[in-house]
Amino acid sequence: MTRDLRTRKLLALALTFTGWQSSEAVYVTSRQNSNCRLLRSDPEWPDQQSWSSLNASVNGRLIASNPLGHVCHDPTYNEVACDALKSVWQFPQTQYPTAPDVIIPIFQNRSCDPFTPESSPCLLGPYVNYAINVSNADDVTTGLKFASENNIRLVVKNTGHDFLGRSTGAGGLSLWTHNLKDQVFVPAYESEYYNGSAIKLGAGVQTFEAYEFAHQNHVRVVGGTCPTVGVAGGYTMGGGHGMLSSEQGLGADNALEWEVVTPNGTLIIATPTQNSDLYWALSGGSPGSFGVVLSLTVRAPADVPMGGANLTIASTGVSVDTFWQAVNAYHQLQPNITDAGGSSGWILTNNTLNIAYISLPNKTQEQVTSLINPFIDTLKQLNVQYALNTSYFDNFYDHANLYLGLPYGYDPSNVVEGSRLIPRSVVLDNSDGLTSALRNITSDPRFEVLGVSINVANGTNDPANPNVPNSALPAWRDALLQLLISGYWDLEADLSTNWETQSALTNVQLPQLENITPGSGSYINEGNFQQPNYQQVFYSENYDRLLSIKQEYDPDSILYGRAAVGSDQWTEEADARLCRT
Ligand SMILES: Cc1cc2nc3c(=O)[nH]c(=O)nc-3n(C[C@H](O)[C@H](O)[C@H](O)COP(=O)(O)OP(=O)(O)OC[C@H]3O[C@@H](n4cnc5c(N)ncnc54)[C@H](O)[C@@H]3O)c2cc1C
Repeated sequence: MTRDLRTRKLLALALTFTGWQSSEAVYVTSRQNSNCRLLRSDPEWPDQQSWSSLNASVNGRLIASNPLGHVCHDPTYNEVACDALKSVWQFPQTQYPTAPDVIIPIFQNRSCDPFTPESSPCLLGPYVNYAINVSNADDVTTGLKFASENNIRLVVKNTGHDFLGRSTGAGGLSLWTHNLKDQVFVPAYESEYYNGSAIKLGAGVQTFEAYEFAHQNHVRVVGGTCPTVGVAGGYTMGGGHGMLSSEQGLGADNALEWEVVTPNGTLIIATPTQNSDLYWALSGGSPGSFGVVLSLTVRAPADVPMGGANLTIASTGVSVDTFWQAVNAYHQLQPNITDAGGSSGWILTNNTLNIAYISLPNKTQEQVTSLINPFIDTLKQLNVQYALNTSYFDNFYDHANLYLGLPYGYDPSNVVEGSRLIPRSVVLDNSDGLTSALRNITSDPRFEVLGVSINVANGTNDPANPNVPNSALPAWRDALLQLLISGYWDLEADLSTNWETQSALTNVQLPQLENITPGSGSYINEGNFQQPNYQQVFYSENYDRLLSIKQEYDPDSILYGRAAVGSDQWTEEADARLCRT
């Protein structure tokens, strides 16, 4: 079957999809020799003794899944614990510390969440059955071997933030890298491509931890605006943008060295000069596709003073057209901010623009004000009310803390989402088209748009150390904005109601941004898992090379992720079973 045909087949399935059925049903068909990974209900599923042996061989680090939501269901219902869980379910910090749980509700599939009735059972459904709490390369090798020999779906999970559900899977054995928390400061990393300070991050280190460690060592690293995403996990492997990106590039641009166990169980180092094809693929291409990462060493240049601001405007007292003129004026300001090495992040609804941060490295408060002034002048002319605050810190950490709210941040996880990279030329030359699309998108009250401005055309912007080619989506280099369309997932509502929102995202909302940005693409880590033509949209001209590297390192396709490179060899059936196409 050609790739296009397969894609169409998958899409036909995806677009009519309204949730996975429980995987707890009893199957009697033999699956061992079929093209499908096993589910626990299959007769060939490894017996208890096999799992016990696996547990012994990883020194007791095997965890049988018991999702957090079990306290809300019989026979383990606990009213107090359940109420407490409900009140925090939409925050990433609730799920990321556990082995089986994932953050995004569409991939929880209401199998075991706190909002279904007490009497409904807590089913594993799309959750993995077991996880190995990885402590070293041997744990990974053992897990890979067990999954491969027993036809078990293998999953790699760090924090479970993934918007494409790549870190969970029915019937799965997860290699859970979250507790690889070591960080080492390297004052003078030396290589052909980079000489300077660096930090070696264990695969489980999250943004807030990396920021804190960098601060202690008077350096800075690129991390997410969501402080809980895993830097050396999906974040850098998918590209990775953050407050420092216009100054210092994408996360992937800062990768120096990956320590990775390949699917055949070999521990190797990948750098721009050693296993360089794997280095290229791991840096920005397709998270979780080429091996299991144990650590990542990143560039960590000297800390910088930071100027900052936040600003809120509302449509109160002005016409709808005037409000949208103000929104457009903010978009037009972004080249000034990004070309000065800065970035901004905001939330746009149909009547508010909440500019959560403007981050300007090496700028004083006065310089921040003068950079923003053209926009403020427009607001005054339009009679739009605003509230502006500015700040100055002599280091990045305090700036990030003020605007992002370290350690956990403010991002809720009860969303469906997809995104589009908006080239600078579109913002400057087709502002009417952009404004019109955003007006339409936000006219549906289920949706808001999260914007980020960025200029990563020149990568790390470090004259002393050259950029290294990587597999981040090339459309990043022309982008001025990353616009993420975020749909509200109602935790109390039934699945079909929320899947309607997902459907609207795919079929109505994202196409409006695609129509005004032909030839651009979408950042895979904040992409729509139902993205049509995803090979082009998420990978573009990198796809074929990524696929050939995938085939070299993972010829048996042990590592699978939704919309990952090579994933079109697989399909997820209605019961979430993974089968070869
Ligand atoms: C609330 C929220 C805010 C976000 N904000 C930002 C942001 O500001 N900037 C940004 O760029 N992105 C952001 N993202 C997207 C984020 O980059 C992705 O969700 C990313 O995949 C998270 O990586 P993780 O390792 O933490 O998550 P996981 O879900 O654990 O893993 C994600 C992917 O990486 C793979 N993976 C994880 N660890 C390993 C490993 N050790 N070896 C091999 N593969 C591994 C998994 O298999 C999976 O494919 C945000 C996401 C959320 C939910």
